[in-house]
Amino acid sequence: MNEIQRRRTFAIISHPDAGKTTLTEKFLLFGGQIQVAGAVKSNKIRKTATSDWMDIEKQRGISVSTSVMEFDYLPDDEIGDTYKVNILDTPGHQDFAEDTYRTLTAVDSAIIVVDSAKGVEAQTRKLMEVCRMRNTPVIIFINKMDREGRNPFDLLDELEEELQIKVRPLSWPIGQGQRFKGVYNIYEQQLNLFTPNKQRVTEKATVDIASGELEEKVGGREAQQLRDDLELVNGVYPAFDKETYRDAEVAPVFFGSALNNFGVQELLNCFVDIAPSPKPTKAEERMVEPTESKFTGFIFKITANIDPNHRSCIAFCKVCSGKFVRNQPYLHVRQGKTVRFSSPTQFMAQRKSTVEEAYPGDIVGLPDNGIFKIGDTLTEGELLHFRGLPSFSPLLFKYIENDDPMKSKQFQKGLEQLMDEGVAQLFVNQFNGRRIVGTVGQLQFEVIQYRLEHEYNAKCRWEPVHLHKACWVEASDAEDLDNFKKRKYQYMAKDTEGRDVFLADSGYVLSMAQQDFKNIRFHFTSEF
Ligand code: GDP
Repeated sequence: MNEIQRRRTFAIISHPDAGKTTLTEKFLLFGGQIQVAGAVKSNKIRKTATSDWMDIEKQRGISVSTSVMEFDYLPDDEIGDTYKVNILDTPGHQDFAEDTYRTLTAVDSAIIVVDSAKGVEAQTRKLMEVCRMRNTPVIIFINKMDREGRNPFDLLDELEEELQIKVRPLSWPIGQGQRFKGVYNIYEQQLNLFTPNKQRVTEKATVDIASGELEEKVGGREAQQLRDDLELVNGVYPAFDKETYRDAEVAPVFFGSALNNFGVQELLNCFVDIAPSPKPTKAEERMVEPTESKFTGFIFKITANIDPNHRSCIAFCKVCSGKFVRNQPYLHVRQGKTVRFSSPTQFMAQRKSTVEEAYPGDIVGLPDNGIFKIGDTLTEGELLHFRGLPSFSPLLFKYIENDDPMKSKQFQKGLEQLMDEGVAQLFVNQFNGRRIVGTVGQLQFEVIQYRLEHEYNAKCRWEPVHLHKACWVEASDAEDLDNFKKRKYQYMAKDTEGRDVFLADSGYVLSMAQQDFKNIRFHFTSEF
């Protein structure tokens, strides 16, 4: 119980460049996982962070895979047991968004970083959609307040409107850009001051904001502005209530500057206080409570080739209930096989080490020589299937062809394993038997080609296919579905799970199909 309650498993997500990496680093700094005095330049840690595993991401300087960082943390003014914070890192590049969506299935909450000058961006919207689908509580951090950005009230309105969630500011900026003086911590009712140049919180004092002390600290104009703003905030927004946040109805909002390490500790302290500890997980058969004595977990992520010298993958397993113990026999439900792990790993900011046991909310890395697929369940014997790893209808499509007839076995195996890892989605056209790879971005095609070549010694060739959308189809009546499939036989495909997929070559064709076949349900995510 104690182990579960002290755990906070979450992801920091954002539109690229909003400051996710910088904020993650600052959290690690507070967690004592990296010891660099003052602000850390983001590119510095980027070079050594565990998330930079794959060769390809080093070449490109982007973070392709998802890794985990964990640390113990206790706010200065608290006593008792430390919190165990598990941050699930997500790829910084939009083309790997699917990876991020899957990671969100393994967290209990999320922090969304928004650039104060840019406001809500395309990827922010999409990520929030995924959080909403799963009722994941979110906290919003409005970053880069040291830059001239938008008016805080306008930003809050935009968040509510664009992200379709109620917001409640828990800190408030004093000035902005050049005149950025700091944030007033509404949650703890503390005024924290910021001195430009110094990259730390310079003073942390409880100031009665009604008294003249405020003028002394921040200057007359700012003091009055802050009082007016706070009056408005408290008038407009209902008082903060932890439960509505945990029910994903209200998103608390913090302002700050990650780069300057400002407003970050306030965010972290409040986060460990209010964020949920591991929640029950839904399996097809039943709800699984974290407090159950028997171990269960599922694989949400597989990364390849941490060591390029031998072909081994790591499967990331989220512990849902009970206690994971090294060398214990567990049931690999899909394969009906008993498996044991002699060297499961856990992750620190810059290293990994063998783990003896792990609790709900924790992520363990399991060495995988091709036995796992995304979504696989491990138990102590119960036949359980955790659900809810959605695939989204891809945005880009290409035919994939084997480019070296002598290597067709390698090609087949490589493609299969890469799809099991969730690198992209594969559809087989039932009419002509050709394979179509669907992705979110161009980079994924390059990753597949690169990895087929370097890991499987196989060559692939891409050929254009004109497709608008792939959607999963179903009907209550098998006859209706059969009829649809017959009428659209040239455009029917199967995904890797054998589900029926309709390949629409234009938006017009899709909407005509939706009109003409009223008994067919068209789905744009695989989870329905
Ligand atoms: P990510 O793509 O979301 O991970 O964004 P990064 O953390 O890499 O940040 C993108 C850029 O914004 C980098 O150049 C950072 O130095 C910069 N940045 C991050 N936080 C701040 C901030 O608080 N103020 C300013 N001015 N720049 C910031």
